[in-house]
Amino acid sequence: MSDEQQEIVTQLRDTVKKVCEEFAGEYWREKDRERQYPKEFVDRLTELGLLAALIPEEYGGSGLPISMGVEILKAIHEFGGNAGACHAQMYTMGTVLRHGSPEQKQKYLPGVASGELRLQAFGVTEPTAGTDTTSISTVAVRDGDKYIVNGQKVWTSRALQSDLMILLARTTAKDKVAKRADGLSVFLVDMREAKKNGMSINPIRTMINHSTNAVFFDNVPIPADSLIGEEGKGFRYILSGMNAERILIAAECIGDARWFIKKASDYARERVVFGRPIGQNQGIQFPIAQAYAQTVAAEAVLEKACAVYESGGNAGTLANLSKMLASEASWAAADTCMQTHGGFGVAEEYDVERKFREARLYRIAPISTNLILSYIAEHELELPRSY
Ligand SMILES: Cc1cc2nc3c(=O)[nH]c(=O)nc-3n(C[C@H](O)[C@H](O)[C@H](O)COP(=O)(O)OP(=O)(O)OC[C@H]3O[C@@H](n4cnc5c(N)ncnc54)[C@H](O)[C@@H]3O)c2cc1C
Repeated sequence: MSDEQQEIVTQLRDTVKKVCEEFAGEYWREKDRERQYPKEFVDRLTELGLLAALIPEEYGGSGLPISMGVEILKAIHEFGGNAGACHAQMYTMGTVLRHGSPEQKQKYLPGVASGELRLQAFGVTEPTAGTDTTSISTVAVRDGDKYIVNGQKVWTSRALQSDLMILLARTTAKDKVAKRADGLSVFLVDMREAKKNGMSINPIRTMINHSTNAVFFDNVPIPADSLIGEEGKGFRYILSGMNAERILIAAECIGDARWFIKKASDYARERVVFGRPIGQNQGIQFPIAQAYAQTVAAEAVLEKACAVYESGGNAGTLANLSKMLASEASWAAADTCMQTHGGFGVAEEYDVERKFREARLYRIAPISTNLILSYIAEHELELPRSY
């Protein structure tokens, strides 16, 4: 990293640290307890332009490379916050940036950069298709100057805190296309209008405060110019955004892992049982050291993924690997942190149990460990595709 980049990282980390100090443990405990959206925290990040870090300067963002987005999200989690409520505002716009028309970019990106427009809902997963995305059944049927959308999405996070949604829908039936990935299209849906015309949103209560929902489309008309890129090519557009998402989620996991490791080490030094700090016992030291080693290794892979991504290379394997390794490292650190705290690990005021629940999610979403292993088997080991 150059001196100039190092300087930016230091500034970003200092800024994030101050925000996290302002919104410390009690803030997150209350939001978790009440299942509330952390609006004040998200507003502060927006004011500081942190969520617009990756939007090019010509559209009002900071035009930073993905490695700086990584630093922001990593720091949020390392300093005790949680970016899950707003990380998508940082990267969902990538679909518009890479595949949108000049008019769409000009229409939406400046508003997303300023925070005036919230583009943080991503409607891909459906209840019956699950991970098998090409089997989704939500359809968009062309009708003159609009499309009519029918179907259902599930686990659509932040739908209630979004003005716009990236929606994946089938525009040509699966049995009428040569490849199952064909015939899917991506739309930028103005949810403010859609909600007046047949879209409904039902929050799902989950073990973590993730503001996620089921979204129903009942004959929802959307203007034809909501289509992003070419009709039928949407699956490719969604895939092309996934490397950025995986890299940025890996950063959050690394931040979580560092938080757990510090919390566990601090407690292990302070807690005295049998007349000595529990951290003097190797049974306590070794799992923390193991999690530390896993975290350092995962972070090295993440840095490599960023370098390939920024150079325009194919970062698929490294993005997947970094997300898998980082989520496993943060889970190891979470488990060790809880064990180190003994009974106090489950007490709300220590924040360990909340972060423990939050960390567990990333082995499942946005892509599960199994599916990453399948990707590696197929793409790196040349083994037959298993699904
Ligand atoms: C809190 C939360 C927020 C989310 N936010 C969003 C969002 O904003 N937008 C969105 O579109 N989605 C979102 N998701 C969905 C998320 O991406 C999916 O939950 C995830 O991709 C897994 O899909 P599924 O839950 O349907 O599991 P399933 O596909 O039913 O899989 C269940 C289990 O079986 C395993 N499995 C399935 N097929 C195979 C196979 N062939 N080989 C080996 N193992 C297999 C999976 O790995 C998984 O462990 C969110 C999920 C959660 C829980």
